[in-house]
Amino acid sequence: MKLFILHGTGGGPDGNWFPWLKQKLEEQGHEVIVPEFPGMEEQSLETWMNTFDQYRNELTEDTILVAHSVAPAFVLNLLRQGVSAEACFFVSGFTGLLGNKFDEPNKTITDRDFDFEEIKHNCSYFKMYHGSDDPYVPLEKAETLADNLDAELEVIEGGGHLHEPSGYKEFPKLLEDIETFSEDYHWMEEALVEAEKAMENGELPIGAVVVSEGEEISRAHSRTSREKITSEHAEMVGIRKAGNLWVRENITLYTTLQPCIMCLAAAVRCGVDRVVYAMDAENEVSTETLPDLEKHGAEIPEVTAGIKEQESVTFFERFMEEKKTTLPEIMSESF
Ligand SMILES: [Zn+2]
Repeated sequence: MKLFILHGTGGGPDGNWFPWLKQKLEEQGHEVIVPEFPGMEEQSLETWMNTFDQYRNELTEDTILVAHSVAPAFVLNLLRQGVSAEACFFVSGFTGLLGNKFDEPNKTITDRDFDFEEIKHNCSYFKMYHGSDDPYVPLEKAETLADNLDAELEVIEGGGHLHEPSGYKEFPKLLEDIETFSEDYHWMEEALVEAEKAMENGELPIGAVVVSEGEEISRAHSRTSREKITSEHAEMVGIRKAGNLWVRENITLYTTLQPCIMCLAAAVRCGVDRVVYAMDAENEVSTETLPDLEKHGAEIPEVTAGIKEQESVTFFERFMEEKKTTLPEIMSESF
């Protein structure tokens, strides 16, 4: 994958955990670009955009943007302008003003009326990190931004501003999460290959892959129409083909659509550890129901959403166009 690491106000490519992360990711074969933006005196949205212009042709469809401090707000400006990213990892990010000396250089970047729906259209996966005792950016600022982006926010106890003076010359959790995302991205591509096969058969474009310990165990696609069997959802077929899952460890079920209650129950019952899906099904009974199962003693898989969401949405749009139907119609007929 291609990653950008974007520094904050008064920072640079050599600061904080940036060189460490760049080296670790490059060792794994990723391409990493760490631009240097103008310093505090010249900092504005315009001067930073001008600097970024030279990297625009480096943006690919699998770009990941990693940003620290003021840079997450800069990334929001990029996304709002139509730049798209597969994932954004925001460290100590915020929008608006902070009431300190950094407002002056930051304000053209952070103090804007962001259209978060439009922004989320250009990136479907956001993960955020924030120190519980950040001396510059109050935690509430990060909580508000996480709400606006539907992002998971990881609060790091005593993490400060998650920069070098707070002890962050390395950031292993961030690296681990990027590695997990990169793996999820790879397997979701395979699930989408299955979804396309389903569509070629006139089925709903849904594909699934079962992975254990980083290895594929099975793959399948929806075949409810062809088999005339209502339960032949991609995930059900995948789980069945996987055989004895009790002897497996670290099992992940990848699926291109948020799984229904039947498939989810099968995943829980068969010991799946993680469920990763691309597109929201907007079902009332779905992954949101999992905490209820937990109350009754079930071991609940961890759920990750929004991996390659746009590709799955595009498949559904194609399907709807070909079948001259609508998403609510599809959902009511199939679930
Ligand atoms: Zn299902």
